[in-house]
Amino acid sequence: MSKQIVDYIIVGQGLAGSCLALQLIQQKKKFIVIDQPDSNSATQVAAGLFNPITGKIMGKTWLANSLFPYLNKFYQRAEEITGSRFYYTMPVYRPFHTIEEQNEWMGKSADPEFEFFIDRILMRPIDTDQVKNPYGGLLLKHCGYLNTQVFCQSVRNYLAKLNARQEENLDETKLTFKDNRVYYKNAEASSIIYCTGEKISQSQFFSWLPIKPLKGETLHIACSTKLNVIYNRGVYLVPDIWKVGATYSKQDQSEGITTEGKKELTEKLDQLISFPYTIINQTWGFRPTTPDRRPILGPHPEIEQLIVFNGLGTKGVSLAPYFSNILTLWMEKRLPINNEVALSRYYSLYWKSA
Ligand SMILES: Cc1cc2nc3c(=O)[nH]c(=O)nc-3n(C[C@H](O)[C@H](O)[C@H](O)COP(=O)(O)OP(=O)(O)OC[C@H]3O[C@@H](n4cnc5c(N)ncnc54)[C@H](O)[C@@H]3O)c2cc1C
Repeated sequence: MSKQIVDYIIVGQGLAGSCLALQLIQQKKKFIVIDQPDSNSATQVAAGLFNPITGKIMGKTWLANSLFPYLNKFYQRAEEITGSRFYYTMPVYRPFHTIEEQNEWMGKSADPEFEFFIDRILMRPIDTDQVKNPYGGLLLKHCGYLNTQVFCQSVRNYLAKLNARQEENLDETKLTFKDNRVYYKNAEASSIIYCTGEKISQSQFFSWLPIKPLKGETLHIACSTKLNVIYNRGVYLVPDIWKVGATYSKQDQSEGITTEGKKELTEKLDQLISFPYTIINQTWGFRPTTPDRRPILGPHPEIEQLIVFNGLGTKGVSLAPYFSNILTLWMEKRLPINNEVALSRYYSLYWKSA
């Protein structure tokens, strides 16, 4: 086999690896992606929702004002590059549980912090044949979903056409570093970027990173109702792909679906929607989370050619586009990576483990 000299080697092609590959395509860089597909990887099971106002306390997502305009342009451009459709903007509707909540959101809607993302406050129930909302609800804009399976498959097909994809599990025993270059089998590059999600713990170079797998389960349902909004309260229901999610289980580190997961999701879905459905399938996966809920990007403390892009946690769809750009700017121009997301914030863990 002839020697393949490239700028970069990417390992893993979930959301992190796919977004990074798209950035490098736009920079006209030569690279290869080594990926072993896994039907239970976080990206494959994700519902792909992006929503700027989230959580039990309904706060604005960290960096929302930067992340959301960026992702909108990024995924549209990705559709143009790959010639596929996977990015859908759609409002999110969150029913209120009490009159107090309704009043609170009336106040917040005038707050400049939120007004960009609030479409309307509904004071009375709407579409009661679809959703249980006795006190009305909050309609959010600049939201939607990415069909993550189609996105990854489209990037995969595009990379195959460029001859830039190798389907295999990275064999770290075949990886060597010499004179600021990386060598893997017949390939040579300036750096290798690990985008391996929660499987990073299996790497001899990065097992010290504090990435914790957070298990999530989703349901796939069928129904005859047509929706043009994502309902979200306790669970979310994404139309078209009909995914209901997701559970969050820190304790359960086992692989596979559970009856508890199904029970939790169906109970919450029944509190949210008012039309009949049948459950077709249940899936599970692990989100790669970090203690401070921020992504991790940058070089290994001792080997600068070894780079990580990980820690996308529960919000990979909104974080991956923006931070793949930040990482590309560091790789290409050494523009600094903010301390809040830089891998260097965890270097002390490496030295402790050494
Ligand atoms: C149930 C569930 C629901 C979710 N819902 C949402 C949502 O609605 N919105 C949202 O934004 N986020 C959601 N997430 C989170 C989101 O899925 C993750 O943030 C994101 O997918 C992580 O992407 P990643 O590329 O870092 O990792 P992964 O998706 O795990 O991808 C890593 C890839 O690398 C490959 N790989 C690993 N090791 C190797 C190796 N040694 N050699 C070769 N290949 C390797 C894997 O097989 C995989 O293909 C959800 C997650 C779960 C589990």
